[in-house]
Amino acid sequence: MSASDVLTLTPAGLYCPAGDFFVDPVRPVERALITHGHSDHARAGHGAVMATPETLAIMATRYGEDFTGTRQSAELGVIQTVGGVEVSFHPAGHVLGSAQISIIQAGFRVVVSGDYKRASDPTCLPFEPLRCHAFITEATFGLPVFRHPDAAGEVVRLLASQSLFPERTHIVGAYALGKAQRVMALLRQAGDDRPIHIHGALERLTDLYRSLGIDLGDVRRVVPAERKSLAGQIVLCPPGAIKDVWAQKFPDPMTVAASGWMRVRARARQSGVELPLIISDHADWDELCATVIETGCSELWVTHGEADALVYWATARGLDAQPLHMIGYGDEADDEPIDPPAAA
Ligand SMILES: [Zn+2]
Ligand SMILES: [Zn+2]
Repeated sequence: MSASDVLTLTPAGLYCPAGDFFVDPVRPVERALITHGHSDHARAGHGAVMATPETLAIMATRYGEDFTGTRQSAELGVIQTVGGVEVSFHPAGHVLGSAQISIIQAGFRVVVSGDYKRASDPTCLPFEPLRCHAFITEATFGLPVFRHPDAAGEVVRLLASQSLFPERTHIVGAYALGKAQRVMALLRQAGDDRPIHIHGALERLTDLYRSLGIDLGDVRRVVPAERKSLAGQIVLCPPGAIKDVWAQKFPDPMTVAASGWMRVRARARQSGVELPLIISDHADWDELCATVIETGCSELWVTHGEADALVYWATARGLDAQPLHMIGYGDEADDEPIDPPAAA
C-alpha cells in the first residue's frame, strides 16, 4: 500500500476516493475536509465541510454563515469514519483551529499537515507529531537559508524601537488571520499592557479570537480622526496598508512588517519596510526536517513552497519523496508572503 492508494491529485486538490472527500480543495466540491481558515485552504461554496470548531467559526466569519451546505465539527483526536476510511484532526500549531488531518485506510496512515510550525504560539495549540506511513507537508520555507529566530525576541526589537522613537507611530503589517493576533499575544507575553490599536480590517477576526478565549488585552480600533494622537503607539494593519495613505496620516509613521519573508533583506527593502520582524507561522528548514523524521514516514509528498530542496534531502535519507507542485496554495493575500514569491 502507498499514499497514492489513499489520495490522488486532481485539479480541485487532494482527493480520497475511499472516503469520497477532498482535503483543502481549491474549487467547490461536494465534501471537503479543511485544515485551517487561511483563504488559500478554506474556500466557500462546498457542499459539506468538516473542520475543527474554530476553523468553522473562522470560515463563517470570513464568508458568512452560508459558506457551505452542511458543516461537521471535528473534535481534536476523535476518529470519525468517512466512507471507507477513518479520519481524525490533530493540532498543527499554525493558527487558531489549524489541524493536521490523519487518514487511515486499511491500516495505512497518511497525514496531511496543511500549514504548520513548531515554534510556540500563545494563540493556538502546539503541533502534535504523528507517526504515519506517508506525510504530506508544505515547504513554504523549505530551504536551509530559512531559520526563523525566536518570535519573542523579534517583539522585543519592536518594543525597543518604540522606546527609542517615542514620537513615531509604529505601523505593523501583519496578516489578518493568525499573525496579527500572535503579535498582540507576544506583546502581552513581553509584559506590554498598553492599548494596541488595529486597522478596521483586523477587527472581526480579532474579535473572534477573543470570543474563542484568546486573551489579547486592550485592543482598540483606530478612529481616523484620532490618528494624529497616536504618536509612539503600536498600530497593527494588513500588510498592504503599511504603505497606504491610511498609514501616512499617523505621526511620523515607522513601517514594520511581521513575516517569515523578512529574513530576505531585499524583500524587506523592496516592500519599504523600515523594521523587518522575522515572525513566521510556517516551519523553517530545521523544523521541516525534524518533523519529517519524527513522523517516521517512508513516503513524503510536498504540496507547495520550496519543494525541491526538501525532496532532495528526503530522498538522500532513503524516503520515497515527491513534489506535487500544487497550484493555489500560498499565493492568497492572507497567507505568509508579503509579496507573492517571484517565481515559486
Ligand atoms: Zn496557512
Ligand atoms: Zn497555505
